[in-house]
Amino acid sequence: MKKNRREFIKVSAIGGAALLLNSSCTESEELKDELAAEEIIQNKPIVVSTWEHGLAANEAAWEILSKKGKALDAVEAGVRVSESDPENLTVGIGGLPDRDGKVTLDACIMDHTSQCGAVACLEEIENPISVARKVMEDTPHVMLVGKGAQEFAVSKGFEKKNLLTTESTKQWKEWLEKSEYEPIINIENHDTIGMLALDEDGNLAGACTTSGMAYKLHGRVGDSPIIGAGLFVDNEVGAACATGVGEAVIRVAGSAMVVELMRNGKSPSEACKEVVNRIISKHENVDGLQVGFLALNKNGEHGSHSVYQGFNVAVAASETNELVDASFDKEWD
Ligand code: ASP
Repeated sequence: MKKNRREFIKVSAIGGAALLLNSSCTESEELKDELAAEEIIQNKPIVVSTWEHGLAANEAAWEILSKKGKALDAVEAGVRVSESDPENLTVGIGGLPDRDGKVTLDACIMDHTSQCGAVACLEEIENPISVARKVMEDTPHVMLVGKGAQEFAVSKGFEKKNLLTTESTKQWKEWLEKSEYEPIINIENHDTIGMLALDEDGNLAGACTTSGMAYKLHGRVGDSPIIGAGLFVDNEVGAACATGVGEAVIRVAGSAMVVELMRNGKSPSEACKEVVNRIISKHENVDGLQVGFLALNKNGEHGSHSVYQGFNVAVAASETNELVDASFDKEWD
């Protein structure tokens, strides 16, 4: 009997610890004590990331997580894969430039102790996520931008290089012919890699990196390097990251809000959906406004939701690394 109840507690702990703790049943105090004494089952390690490019990134992260490595090391190594892929038009080298032809990169990273680092509008450095980590670890600051971020990177041994590729130059020149700025849903004038991991020790970390909206005004910074907007981690609760039109994400403090809703008992999917709905409710018109959130809670459960259909996330745990479609509010017309 005792054993069965323990099993029940363990299973419930995966999805319903909060419910169980609020139970008014006569044994609730006893159950509470037992629950505290039991190790809550966590689905770990696990790594989740945004969009199809997340599959290759997850592989690098998994290399680390599967050897009992740290979530922080895993997310940095993971997103570096996308940053260093010249064929990826939305992150790192090969990322589409702003309207002046400059590739300006944004990235941030956050660990289980709430330490965080970020860079924004960084030029000529292939791996902004690693610069963000250096900001976190080697300075008293959270964010460096522009020339200062570049000088800091160079002082830390990062090489300056041209990030425009033949393909990104070609696409920019084609764009210049009309020079029309319009975010387009799910085709590559915007995308980002956001990655969240839970390691063997039960610690969470996250990373987010992007070249931002293609053909943006020079100097524009989106949500991706902003802690609380493009990424947020609270090791007691969970982690979240965002992709899509950054201005809309910033307006609702998107990722921090998703984590806060999980703290208040929402599942990762429910939390993502609620923040997407908040974004929808705050815009008169969401035509062309794609935003997606991805969340991972402390138990290793993940969820994702977007304004429009088409957002997907890569999920790697034990033997699998697969793409999962996010739920969504709107279909294309
Ligand atoms: N969120 C990024 C930005 O606004 C772009 C994206 O995820 O598509 O810069």
